[in-house]
Amino acid sequence: MATAYERELARLVPEVIAETVRVTEIPAPTSRERRRARYVHSRFEQIGGWDGLSIDGIGNVVAVRRGQPGKARVLVAAHLDTVFPDAETPVTRSRGRLHGRGVGDNSAGVAALLGVAQAVQSRAPRGVGDLLLAANVGEEGLGDLRGIRRIMRDHAGDFDAMIALEAHSLNRVQGGGVGSIRYEVSVRTEGGHSWGAYGRPNAISLLARAITALESVAPAVGVAPKATINAGVIRGGRSVNTIAPDASFELDMRSEDPATLDRLHHDAKRAMRRSLDGAGGGTGGGEVRLKLRRIGLRPAARMPQDHPLIGAMLSARRGLGLPRPTLGVGSTDANAPMATGMPATCIGVTTGGEAHAEREWIRTAPFRRGVPYVGRAIVAAARLPRTAVRQRRV
Ligand SMILES: [Zn+2]
Repeated sequence: MATAYERELARLVPEVIAETVRVTEIPAPTSRERRRARYVHSRFEQIGGWDGLSIDGIGNVVAVRRGQPGKARVLVAAHLDTVFPDAETPVTRSRGRLHGRGVGDNSAGVAALLGVAQAVQSRAPRGVGDLLLAANVGEEGLGDLRGIRRIMRDHAGDFDAMIALEAHSLNRVQGGGVGSIRYEVSVRTEGGHSWGAYGRPNAISLLARAITALESVAPAVGVAPKATINAGVIRGGRSVNTIAPDASFELDMRSEDPATLDRLHHDAKRAMRRSLDGAGGGTGGGEVRLKLRRIGLRPAARMPQDHPLIGAMLSARRGLGLPRPTLGVGSTDANAPMATGMPATCIGVTTGGEAHAEREWIRTAPFRRGVPYVGRAIVAAARLPRTAVRQRRV
């Protein structure tokens, strides 16, 4: 039998859809989320009853509701920012769909967060731990998860698990984070005139050797766990008749498995260094060295499939007529806590398409199940014993 809290979630479905439209129509490009943040803050104020409600210096809004000691303290975060430039975004409705830039990524996520906020405050589900409900900045692109990272610093020690809301993900539960390591790899040599100084080492030729050497360590396609390596950008040289004194390239390595990424990263470094063994001969070239400068690091993480947090997400779907979700790796705000060993996942409220495109759209019918699902999932996580969540680090 549905609880008062669950009946309230069901009642709020049309309100969450209307809220999705209002949120979408307030522009919020990454780093300029202020207006949308102020709006969400005012909605939390209207709901009221918080033990803490704040908006920090970069625009993260966090509402805190104290719960029962001994139960899991859960941070729920929906990102405010969109990949689109600052402009008004009208939402249009047609045949059971909402169309608008950012409508599903992530306005409906923010709207679902506000719906859950309303339901927990008005119907106080029993036996739940602290809830920290956050609408955060800086998830997309160059935001590099700065919003969630700031919340993790400011609220360090205040929560045991994290759930990200990404509206399109109704039938996906995130079980891991793709890790990446990025380097700028460079070679410097003395250089000189291509005729007069002929014989000196050429930085471009040496760098080419190093790049070619990576072929020997490149992971095979289609192998699990997936790992990838990519030379994405290359620079160097002066002119066609100059022995190149410098050359560099940008290297990106990724995997869903931390040990695989670690191995790939070490193999790649060794292969590149070996490719230059003995380089430098000729006339006074001396020892030639590769320089590696790290320009990105996002650790890979994987949740055990039987982790109680994942179990709570799956149990919340029962009886709602939702299909079995896919459990895969992703790149969301959940990656940041996961990378520190904290249990985290990402769930959603509806389905749609064309995220990050002008033609983005979502379906309205799935909200009928999606809103109760998200609300039940959050409460199910916050009902787990704190010890059960904390003992199972990622
Ligand atoms: Zn998103």
